[in-house]
Amino acid sequence: MPFYDQANETAPRERLRTLQFHKLQRLILEISGRNRFYTRKWDDAGIVALDIQSFSDFQKLPFTYKSELMCAQEEAPPFGTNATFAVDAYTRVHQTSGTTGTPLRVVDTPESWEWWGDCWGHVMKAAAVTAADRVFLAFSFGPFIGFWATVEGARKIGAMVIPGGGWDSIQRLHMMRDLGATVVCCTPTYALRLAEVAREEHFDLRAMQVRTLIHAGEPGANVARTKSRIEKEWNAKCFDHAGASEVGAHSFECEVQPGGIHLIESEFIAEVVEPQTGREVPTGEIGELVITNLGRAGFPVIRYRTGDLVRLNPAPCACGRTFARFDGGLLGRSDDKVTIRGVNVYPMAIENIIRQFGSVDEFQVTVTRRREMQHLEVQIEVVSGNDADRIRADVEQAIYRALALRPTVKVAKPGALSHFEMKARRFRRLDGASENQPG
Ligand SMILES: [Zn+2]
Repeated sequence: MPFYDQANETAPRERLRTLQFHKLQRLILEISGRNRFYTRKWDDAGIVALDIQSFSDFQKLPFTYKSELMCAQEEAPPFGTNATFAVDAYTRVHQTSGTTGTPLRVVDTPESWEWWGDCWGHVMKAAAVTAADRVFLAFSFGPFIGFWATVEGARKIGAMVIPGGGWDSIQRLHMMRDLGATVVCCTPTYALRLAEVAREEHFDLRAMQVRTLIHAGEPGANVARTKSRIEKEWNAKCFDHAGASEVGAHSFECEVQPGGIHLIESEFIAEVVEPQTGREVPTGEIGELVITNLGRAGFPVIRYRTGDLVRLNPAPCACGRTFARFDGGLLGRSDDKVTIRGVNVYPMAIENIIRQFGSVDEFQVTVTRRREMQHLEVQIEVVSGNDADRIRADVEQAIYRALALRPTVKVAKPGALSHFEMKARRFRRLDGASENQPG
């Protein structure tokens, strides 16, 4: 079984806890009095950070919210008060991919950028990537951190990187084939988009050497039907991974694929809380992931409310790792759930239903309000050559059977719906509640 850091990945959980606490104390010591954002935050809460001597002390620290990081940025532009060190110490800047509003900038020092690379080393090793691999990055290499850190991870493993920025989909496919790519990193949506382009252009995907896809940016790789569809189209195994610009690459899927992702517990502390109250949920229950990164003193997040819903499973995995898992990957966003006529609806549940239809290429879900009642409207793009009317009726039936809700399903013209490279946004709310904008 390939490990990146076997000693820690298989350590007894008490030893992992000790290691985490050790790193936490070192981090707190390093940033106290120096990081303006946390120094003030903890002062305001009346907490002397250096008094933190146990995990229960740690849990007295206030949560950190993305909105606070945004304020910290506005207060001292361009990098904000959460930048611990003088600007000269930093060698990288990235910003979140949000398409609306001001992006959040994050900065890294050479040390924290190495740390990002180590985290990606975990992701890649767990997917059995080796020095013999050629890793194609279907990514635009803009200011979004995305797969930039993957380059560092590949370097640590000794694999070859094939950067695919500035290319369109068919050019990327040709490059993958011509250079013998064996691993492709992209979002699950884009893997499906590439398959769609291959079909249109009569390009044989399955004749390529690609055996592994590593996904990020959206939860699709853990949506069972999306995953199996990608694996079938590509004749390759696909691996999920989760991370965020302000947190780091925190979770990965191992080769055993137990239906979830491992948290890199040697580099992160996870807590799972009830979104409304912030109280820790009992182990195994769904709650919001609160994360602390331990290797980014130059731009730390401590008890950070990610908004991602997870179910933590600390049982050892068949792969030999003792790192806890998030069963089912990221299960959605805490602010994503809509209740329609008494039924709780999560975007991922709808995705799982629609992805069983191989003839649906892209879809968009909109929650609207009709006569004071919320209503589910789904638009689908159907692969040409199929009976669109029949598929429309079948999708409607499938949603009705699974959710006991009668949606309106409409067929969109080919190409009418957005096709995404990063961060698909297929779920819209026009019912008066605010639209969720992750990342
Ligand atoms: Zn495992």
